Amino acid sequence: MKFVEEFRDPELAKRLLDRIHRHSRKQTRLMEFCGGHTVSIFKHGLRQLLPPNIEMLSGPGCPVCVTASADLDKAIALSRLPDVIVTSFGDMIRVPGSHSSLQQAKAEGGDVRIVYSAQDALNTACGNPGKSVIFIGIGFETTAPTVAAALLQAEQESINNFYLLSLHKVCPPIMKAILDLGEVRLNGIICPGHVSAIIGSYPYQFIPDNYNIACAVSGFEPLDILLCIDMLVSQIEAEKPSVEIAYRRGVNSEGNQAALKLMDSVFEIGDADWRGIGIVPASGLKLRKGYQRFNAEVKFDIKPEPAREARGCICDSILRGVSTPLECKLFRKSCTPDHPVGPCMVSSEGGCATYYHYGDANGR
Ligand code: SF4
Repeated sequence: MKFVEEFRDPELAKRLLDRIHRHSRKQTRLMEFCGGHTVSIFKHGLRQLLPPNIEMLSGPGCPVCVTASADLDKAIALSRLPDVIVTSFGDMIRVPGSHSSLQQAKAEGGDVRIVYSAQDALNTACGNPGKSVIFIGIGFETTAPTVAAALLQAEQESINNFYLLSLHKVCPPIMKAILDLGEVRLNGIICPGHVSAIIGSYPYQFIPDNYNIACAVSGFEPLDILLCIDMLVSQIEAEKPSVEIAYRRGVNSEGNQAALKLMDSVFEIGDADWRGIGIVPASGLKLRKGYQRFNAEVKFDIKPEPAREARGCICDSILRGVSTPLECKLFRKSCTPDHPVGPCMVSSEGGCATYYHYGDANGR
């Protein structure tokens, strides 16, 4: 398959690994921000192939996992309203909230439907004029432009039964928040490829400038990730942190201006609640004033019970890179993909699900 097979070439992978082994001397700790990278690293066994002085940590880049329980509880409360259809991506349906889940709400009679895009949700609204259709908008800068496009279409076509619960988040502020917490010492960050295709690489410049930490944007195939690690090792060994791109076929420094403009026309930056971290200023996307008629929180009066976290679940510290799933007492015991206790075991990009499916006993 074009743009896949050539990025899995074993001979090229071996050459990159040889370079990394030759050049990497310092004790090095790298964080892959994105859950998609964690999955690829585990799936292709890259952790085992790296020199022992390179430690990999997983970060908070799984949109389902970082959705706060309080926000999920709002979605569940919306699904219990009469004449409402709640639409969301599949993984979100199974995530346990404080007291229930969207799946449970559906079993109890709520109209909860899985969609693959905001456009699907808009089509559901068109096909159900007697109902209010709410899209639970999660995800980072990758997803937000498509949601903005659906809202603009709803506005143009006067579709007046379509609403958004915007739980969208943006990446650079959470990276800054994690670095400011100071809980994990990092030498380099593997920056997310899909997000960077939209925002470009420039927004990460504060990381080398202010924190002296190396950065490189990576794609999701093994060669992309190995090239990215090779770049990070070179920066770290030379003590010259910068922002590089190891994913030139998808990312440039300025980003996708058309997508950014689309996003900006509908959303403005606001505070967001992150699981494990709490409210992070200017890290979310809220509907602009002119789009408040699509705002599900404005349209519907919901009062969810106070949020609480599942007992024993350490998703919060896993998302901050402080713990690994192996440190959770429930991992592989009472918490499995069939019976998930926390979101990191539900999402296909969640750290716990990744360790469960692909990890060995040492988390490699
Ligand atoms: Fe939470 Fe389950 Fe992961 Fe433990 S294994 S942190 S309970 S999701």
